[in-house]
This record gives sequence, C-alpha cells and structure tokens, in this order.
Amino acid sequence: MLEGLDPEQREVATALHGPVCVLAGAGTGKTRAITHRIAYGVRAGILPPASVLAVTFTNRAAGEMRGRLRLLGAGGVQARTFHSAALRQLQYFWPKAVGGELPRLLERKIQLVAESAARCRVRLDRNELRDVTGEIEWAKVTQTVPADYPAAVAKSHRDAPRDTAEISQLYGAYEQLKRDRSVIDFEDVLLLTVGVLQDRHDIADQVRRQYQHFVVDEYQDVSPLQQRLLELWLGDRDSLCVVGDASQTIYSFTGATPDHLLNFRTRHPDATVVKLVRDYRSTPQVVHLANGLLDQARGRAAEHRLELISQRDPGPEPVYSEYADEPAEAEGTARRIRELIEAGVPAGEIAVLYRVNAQSEVYEQALADAGVPYQLRGAERFFERQEVREAGVALRGAARAGSNDSLLDDAEDLPAQVRAVLSAKGWTAEPPAGSGAVRDRWESLAALVRLAEDFARARPEASLADLVAELDERAAAQHAPTVQGVTLASLHSAKGLEWDAVFLVGLTEGMMPITYAKTDEQVEEERRLMYVGVTRARLHLSLSWALSRSPGGRASRRPTRFMNGLRPGSTAFGARSAGGAGGVERGSGGRRRRRGPVLCRVCGKTLTDAGEMKLMRCEDCPSDMDEALYERLREWRSDQARELGQPAY
Ligand code: ATP
Ligand code: MG
Repeated sequence: MLEGLDPEQREVATALHGPVCVLAGAGTGKTRAITHRIAYGVRAGILPPASVLAVTFTNRAAGEMRGRLRLLGAGGVQARTFHSAALRQLQYFWPKAVGGELPRLLERKIQLVAESAARCRVRLDRNELRDVTGEIEWAKVTQTVPADYPAAVAKSHRDAPRDTAEISQLYGAYEQLKRDRSVIDFEDVLLLTVGVLQDRHDIADQVRRQYQHFVVDEYQDVSPLQQRLLELWLGDRDSLCVVGDASQTIYSFTGATPDHLLNFRTRHPDATVVKLVRDYRSTPQVVHLANGLLDQARGRAAEHRLELISQRDPGPEPVYSEYADEPAEAEGTARRIRELIEAGVPAGEIAVLYRVNAQSEVYEQALADAGVPYQLRGAERFFERQEVREAGVALRGAARAGSNDSLLDDAEDLPAQVRAVLSAKGWTAEPPAGSGAVRDRWESLAALVRLAEDFARARPEASLADLVAELDERAAAQHAPTVQGVTLASLHSAKGLEWDAVFLVGLTEGMMPITYAKTDEQVEEERRLMYVGVTRARLHLSLSWALSRSPGGRASRRPTRFMNGLRPGSTAFGARSAGGAGGVERGSGGRRRRRGPVLCRVCGKTLTDAGEMKLMRCEDCPSDMDEALYERLREWRSDQARELGQPAY
C-alpha cells in the first residue's frame, strides 16, 4: 500500500490520527497521498469506510478520487463534492428537521428571476436578466443577503451591471418568490444544510455519528460557507486531513481564500504539517515554466510558494505560437493535435484549455474539420449523461422485447443490434456535421457502440441482455468506457487533472488576464489560473495566442503579460528561459468554412434567427458570453449541479 510513495507522502499516508495538513505545489502527489492515506487507514482498521467523507470541488475530481480509491480497495468510502454531500444529508434530514419532502430544486433560475422582475415592474432584456441572475448567484455564494448587496459589491472592487439598489430589490423578490413556490435553488443547498446542522443538535449529532473522518482536497479553494459546513460536520473532533496549494487558489470570487489552508497550524496547533516539493507529473521543461510564472507572483499565496522539482526525464521544450487571428490559431492547434495523434499520443491524453467557455466553439469546429474526436465534458460521470441513460432504457427495452421486436434480427451480431437500437433513437454511424453539444452526445453513443464491439469480441455468444447486464454493472461501479477524444475544457474545470499534451490557447491580454480583472489581487488570481493550466501538462505544452479576433481584423492584441521574461522574444527573456527554447512560431491557417445548418450549442436545435445564429445559441438556452463573472459561476455551478440528481442519503 505504501509502495509508490516517497517519504513525505508516506508520512501523510500513515498520519491517521489527529489533524493533518499537506501544503504542496501542483503535481506533487497530494491527491495520491490522501487517497493512499484513506486506503491505508481502511486497511489498518482505523478508518472504517462508511465513517470517512472525502470532499473535493468538482465532479470530475470526485469521480477521479472514487476511481483511485476503488483501485486501492477502499471503494466503500464516500468521495463527493460539498454540494452533493450536503444535498444527500438535506434530503435525508428534511422530513425530521422541517417536515415533508425537501422542496424541489429549481432548474431554470432565470425564469424565476424574470418573474421577480415582473413583480417589481422592472423591464429586463435577455442579457440583463442573465446579468441579474449572475449577481444573485454571486450574492448567495458569498453569503450576502439582499439588504447587504450594494455594500458587498462596493467592497468587492467590481462594477455591478446595473443599479445595485435595484438588483437588491430584485434579489429580495426572487427569494420571496422561491418561498411562495416552495422551491430551493442550487446555492440554498449549502445554506440550508448549514442552517439545519446549526439549529438542530440532534441532527448534527446523528451526522457526526455517521461521519467521523474528513478529508478535503483542494482546500485552498474552500469558501466561507463550505468551511462552516466542514466545522459543523467535525464538531469538537479533529480527524481532518486537508491538502492544498495556495498558488492554485482560483475561486476567490466565491469568497474562497487560502487563509484556511495557510493558517491551519494556528487553528490546530497539534497538526501534522507535511510539505511536498517533488513534482511527479511534469517534465523539467514544464516545471521550469511553472516556477517562472510564480517567480513573478505577488500576494499572500506567493509568499508561501513552494518551488517545484521535477522528477521526470527531460522532454520537449514548450512551444510558443503566434497566429494572425483566432480561426488560424484554432486550425494550427488542430493540425498539431493531429500530428501528435499520428505520432501515437492517444486523443484522450490531449487537452485544449481556454479561459472562458465561449472560446470553445472555434476549437470544436477546427477539430471537427480536422477529423479529430473531442469531448467537452472530460471526466464527467459517463453513465449519468442524459443520452447514455436514454440509450440504456432503449437497449433494455429491446433486450426485453427480444426477437419479437421487428427492429432486431437475432441472426446479427451484437454490435449491429446496438447500432440498430441507437439508430432508431436518431443516432448516426457518422459524426454529425455540427459541433458543440450535438457532437458531444454523438461521442458518448459512439463510445457505447465501441463498448458493444469490445464486449462481443470478448464474448462472441453474448446476447443483448448480457450487454445490458454488463452496462448495469459498469454503471454501478462507475466504470465508464473511454470516450476517446481530445478534452476541451476551461482552465477552472481542469483543476486537479492531467494530460500528456496540453494546449493553452487564447493567451492574449484581455483574455489572460481577463478584462474585468482590475485590481492587483484579481490579476494575481489570473496568474494562478495560468499556473494551474501550465501544470496540467505531463510532457507536451503549447502556448498560443492570436493578434486579431477574426481574419482581416486589426492586429491589436498582445500576448499575455504573464509570459514576459519567459517567452522567447519577450522583454527580459532569459532570466528564466529554458536552454533550448526555440523561439516563437508564426502560425498560419486557412479560411474556416462552416458546414451545414447552424445549431444551438447547448440543445442542438437548428437555428433560423439571425441573432441566435450569431451567438450559436437559441433563446431558450443560457448565454455563454464572456462577461465572465456569470460565466464562471455558471460553470462552477453546473459542474457541481450535475451530481445533484443523486438518490437519497
Ligand atoms: P494537483 O495540484 O494538480 O492537484 P497533485 O499534487 O494532487 O496535483 P497528483 O495528481 O496526486 O498530484 O499526482 C500527480 C501525478 O504524479 C499523478 O500522475 C501521480 O500518479 C504521480 N505521482 C504522484 N506521486 C508519485 C510517486 N511517489 N511516484 C510516482 N508517481 C507519482
Ligand atoms: Mg490533486
């Protein structure tokens, strides 16, 4: 169990009593050390699996952790996001705490905000509605009540999208409307759980009897509300192990600060504190660039930085590429990705990371044009995707109907039957021309077909019913088939993950740091975000930017200031430059063609309205433009919300 850990990691894994804090940089094996600690504790009989709650920040990370624990023989341990852990508890205790069923979770918040605006006789267009919704979410995440909202905005050094007194009024009306309709929103889940545990000692005691040992990954991003929840879970006990990297704090817009991590010793004077510095993930070239980025960092997190030391053999130098415009950048990126795949790098080991989700479209198109499979959702739980669930229902139905179904020919092999069932649901053997959600769904179903092919090869006599049983088993074990494809993801959602090849794209001033990062603190957070991006790469790292947005546009953009002194050709380059850095490539790309009808990127509906076509998004679906606070919140929320369809506690 302890093999494959270095001495410091081993210290973490064997510190099974009392508070433990691990402070360490990216790729040093923090997540590895805590999963081994849990497994070691389970094996030693000190941490009974059902008494351990491991929490992390995104569903992807929770899924990864469950996978790692299962491999280590500790599959019975709960690894969840704060939200999903809270929701399960809330569902379970609501009848006792309040009576009746837990109110329904509100799905389309924006509609309720629109109704609140109507109640207040405030006219809002679609964009304004989205902005106000974003502000309400921000207020709730930062625990700001309607009356305090104007003061809180002033304190946060940012501009509200409209009069703060008016937003405060709309926020109040929205909260009232929710009560009238007896619904709760996503943010209420944590607020209500904290409320119940605070007010009801009997319920808090019951939760504490169940969960006695807590482990928190990515602790640098804990929000005040999550910290409060953690304290309520713990009560007066101290079996808490936290790990984090102050240099990766990227959620301070939710009120998160690395202070809880950095002050852990003050709060828990008897804590075991371990520092890890050996980087097992990335080559010396990547680590060198990551250290260089932090050399220029300022602020509290920077004072506590830990210089990383790569444990890997040298690899290729990072590649810096400058393009004339964004489509050229996307095409150049797609071409390089193709080359890597042809050279043997699996598509699933490649990621394109960008600052805001709105940047993905041009990359989706370029990858689709280059015939490269891609996925927008990374490690999201495969069997919980809607299309996979629907396919499962259809396959089960077909298996039950058996040869009575005119659809199926018993004489065929299994994969042909699966294709027939999926075709009846509208699936095509060839990928659709469009991009976005439509293509993403196609990739999931294609993965199911591949799974059927593999299954039939391994068990030539297997029937459709056998395949359905196999799918059920895999779903229960969360054993997803590999969705082969390049991952397209925002930098925020890439936290904690790693790939052989990482393409950081759109690295221009305005995007990185993003325009609305105005204060020094906000700019520092952007730098940390870039650090998170760089440190996702194991081997190949590409950094690119485009001088203008569209072909023929004015070349007015500049590469990000964060690369100054690090990028060949930039001012003061050399101070930290790697030996053989080859200079900046000037990339080129042809003209982009758009094929077929324009589809909504979210729901896949064919668009006819000119305004909608420009946005590539229908009126019914939430916008994805880069006025980013909303964007960041939405992404953060939707990632966590996916897991909320869970069965009760
Ligand atoms: P991040 O800050 O990005 O979350 P982390 O500190 O959690 O990173 P891990 O994801 O646990 O790091 O580990 C990074 C990579 O290094 C993983 O591929 C992991 O398997 C590998 N690794 C960690 N420790 C060791 C070790 N002692 N020997 C070999 N490989 C290791
Ligand atoms: Mg980690």
